[in-house]
Amino acid sequence: MIERRDFYIGGAWVAPQSGAACDVIDPSTEEPFAVISLGGQADTDAAVAAARAAQPGWAATSKAERSELLARILGLYKARAEDLAQAMSREMGAPIDFARTSQVGAGAWHIKSFIHALDMFEFDRPLGSHAPGDRILMDPVGVVGMITPWNWPMNQITLKVIPALATGCTMVLKPSEIAPLSAMIFAEILHEAGVPPGVFNLVNGDGPGVGTQLSGHPDIDMISFTGSTRAGIAISKNAADTLKRVHLELGGKGANLIFADADDTAVKRGVLHCFQNTGQSCNAPTRMLVERAVYDAAVETARAVAEKMEVGPADREGRHIGPLVSATQFDKVQALIQTGIDEGARLVAGGPGRPEGVNRGYFVRPTVFADVTNAMTIAREEIFGPVLSIIPFDSEEEAVTIANDTEYGLTNYVQSQDGARCNRLARRLRAGMVEMNGASRGVGSPFGGVKRSGNGREGGIWGLEEFCEVKAVSGWHEEAACH
Ligand code: NAD
Repeated sequence: MIERRDFYIGGAWVAPQSGAACDVIDPSTEEPFAVISLGGQADTDAAVAAARAAQPGWAATSKAERSELLARILGLYKARAEDLAQAMSREMGAPIDFARTSQVGAGAWHIKSFIHALDMFEFDRPLGSHAPGDRILMDPVGVVGMITPWNWPMNQITLKVIPALATGCTMVLKPSEIAPLSAMIFAEILHEAGVPPGVFNLVNGDGPGVGTQLSGHPDIDMISFTGSTRAGIAISKNAADTLKRVHLELGGKGANLIFADADDTAVKRGVLHCFQNTGQSCNAPTRMLVERAVYDAAVETARAVAEKMEVGPADREGRHIGPLVSATQFDKVQALIQTGIDEGARLVAGGPGRPEGVNRGYFVRPTVFADVTNAMTIAREEIFGPVLSIIPFDSEEEAVTIANDTEYGLTNYVQSQDGARCNRLARRLRAGMVEMNGASRGVGSPFGGVKRSGNGREGGIWGLEEFCEVKAVSGWHEEAACH
């Protein structure tokens, strides 16, 4: 049993002031394998005080100093890649090869791309030639509380911690209590890289505890949150009394519009993408909208891909999908699969229960429903499991209506060889991101949603701006400028 009961506060690992413990469960075996502490108000206050004390000094560092620090973090992150992969694989069930490549890789990619974005980022900008005495200073927002989920641990943590460091903010991170170990390794990396005491702090805890304490804390200037829409709403309400800035990256119910002229691999690609990370991604294309002329063929392809998809334990090497993260998620996904059947969707692959021969671990069967209507529960709720809903459409207009008929607005996908149609749809789909014909977002591309998928953007220069206050200065004397 791994014991990781300490918190990282003020540059050192310190014992918690509250005694509550929390087991970390291996989702492949359902057995606890580690124990952490759940912080209380005193721990949260100590971490916030350390971040507050460090803030002026950190804000006064130069862009070059911060850039060098990020480069050291990147080097150490790569050196600890295997430790991070093992931790994530065990705590949230990502198959080890997927953890090594995609889960760890996402964090490295973000650190690298923020180094590039910081290089281009101007903290001190002229307003324009018509207003020579007016300047814009991009000030760090101050002390940031960060609350992250378990599904892509390093992806989400680096998308917050790295730009906050880059812009001169100090921070308190509360990682998911379900996946806390990789975050603690990340804290060790930051320590070794030379992040000054108090600039980065980590307190483990749950939503009702540290999560709530951070969101309502009077000495925190901003909350950056990734997770469920339910928690995002609670955090916004909780943050309202202190009017702190709240950045939310929430759920999604992505539509993947497949037209009759889509390329041959579009359906297969869409199914694999939906099942990636055992369906536990906010941008998963969970609603596959298919033009009637190619509908039957698409359903048949989806069935074949799902039936071929292997499910197995996280510590087994190779390409397969792992278990869901927890008993709660397992019960939720099983119930939603049953709801799909009860509401009349046609089950073409998978279904309720564990895969054949498996009786332990939070494993579910890769499931495909056809003849889904957009009014059904499985088309409306974020399932967060390997469950695909296929919906037919007859016209482009109908496809847009179905795609936009959701409370979410994170990522939509378009598969068509018709360039004019693609460009039309890029404008008409109400989402933070539209990805077409298998193209994925490039370095520095902003990630985020509209409607109940949240607000704000992560990644690239937009990700840096999230952590800045825009300060307008008039009467600036160019010759007296101090840098
Ligand atoms: P969650 O929102 O409950 O937890 C995410 C983080 O928020 C955790 O660190 C948790 O401790 C914290 N938290 C929970 N309630 C809080 C509160 N009231 N105040 C402050 N912090 C709080 O998500 P979950 O339980 O881990 O997963 C449940 C659902 O969330 C999933 O089924 C999925 O729909 C969604 N989800 C979305 C994303 C995403 O990337 N958009 C990520 C994870 C989960």
